[in-house]
Amino acid sequence: MQYVPFGSLGFDVSRLGFGCMRLPTAKDGDKTVIDRPRAIALLRRGIDGGITYVDTAYPYHGGESEIVTGLALKNGYREKVTLTTKLPVWAVKEEKDMNRLLDEQLKKLDVPYVDFYLLHALDKERIEKLKAFHYKDFCTQAIQDGRIKHAGFSFHDDKQTFLDFLHDWDQWGLAQIQFNYLDDQEQATVEGLREAGRCGVPIVVMEPLRGGALANPPANVRKMMEENPTKRSAVEWAFAYVADFPEVATILSGMSTEDQLEDNLSIFHRLTVNGMSEEDRQFAVQLKEAYLSRMPVKCTGCEYCQPCPQDVHIPDIFSAYNNAKMFDQPDRFANRYQELQSKNWDASRCVQCGACESACPQHLPIIDWLQRIDQERV
Ligand code: SF4
Ligand code: SF4
Repeated sequence: MQYVPFGSLGFDVSRLGFGCMRLPTAKDGDKTVIDRPRAIALLRRGIDGGITYVDTAYPYHGGESEIVTGLALKNGYREKVTLTTKLPVWAVKEEKDMNRLLDEQLKKLDVPYVDFYLLHALDKERIEKLKAFHYKDFCTQAIQDGRIKHAGFSFHDDKQTFLDFLHDWDQWGLAQIQFNYLDDQEQATVEGLREAGRCGVPIVVMEPLRGGALANPPANVRKMMEENPTKRSAVEWAFAYVADFPEVATILSGMSTEDQLEDNLSIFHRLTVNGMSEEDRQFAVQLKEAYLSRMPVKCTGCEYCQPCPQDVHIPDIFSAYNNAKMFDQPDRFANRYQELQSKNWDASRCVQCGACESACPQHLPIIDWLQRIDQERV
């Protein structure tokens, strides 16, 4: 396992971090019932295996994750790790809620402080709320009174929003972003990651396997991997791509089983910063292209076609359809489409007014695609 300096904060961190959002559960289909003995053993085995970064959050496992993480970190394990949890910004209704929630979380974790407290899952709207509630004062006070060591944020919006918020404060301890070889131009993007590095803000990566999808590639991608001279599993290619970036301090994996943990530990014993050859980097680009070649609708998600007068959520429909085709996951599409139908956002509401097609910079035949998707439903 490689350990790298956590920016300029004065300590090192393991490249593999333990994400506590997919702990083993005791009841199938019920995420809120964690199999506590197994989860605690799994987390401790990870730490014994070299992991020094543990990440949880208020909503994980319906609020149970913080409690079980705290239990796992007893018996001397807390001292071995950097511990992160996150402010549920959506639950903040007034300024004083930030203090109340942090206190509640420390109680659930049963610790006097956390090393990092992140403002969770930020987008434009949540950022505006945090600014109105003077988030810098709250974070500074929590650092001064010892409840947190450093503040950071986790992020899900576009690049400009990321850059603006990154530059909004010069005290960030870290920024957590979604990043993998398929999404390197999505959300914060590789450019945002590089800028964080220039600002001295270490990056923590979430979704390195894109919710597990990159671990199970479709046949054309699998064949490319089998034929490539450098042999890596699908999981290792995905981790290797992210671990290559020197701006990335640690990479989160939400491990649910002992096999996943051991496989990850073994992979991370081989991965290093700048560990990819030029041929490897080129191959990662080819893997991305192979996935994108399976994307039927060349929608970039720019949202210029929104809002539709009939409230058809065009980018969401195209994104769900493309993902289903890229990853061979028709069931996932069916579920997502049902959700869109339940909100009256689905393609059947289109009255063919043509407003979206005039606005689309990609000149996509949106109406035809909507009809086809609605009929096909994959
Ligand atoms: S053509 Fe259909 S989807 Fe496009 S704006 Fe009109 S109603 Fe909405
Ligand atoms: S305008 Fe075109 S490319 Fe942009 S989200 Fe709508 S359909 Fe996609």
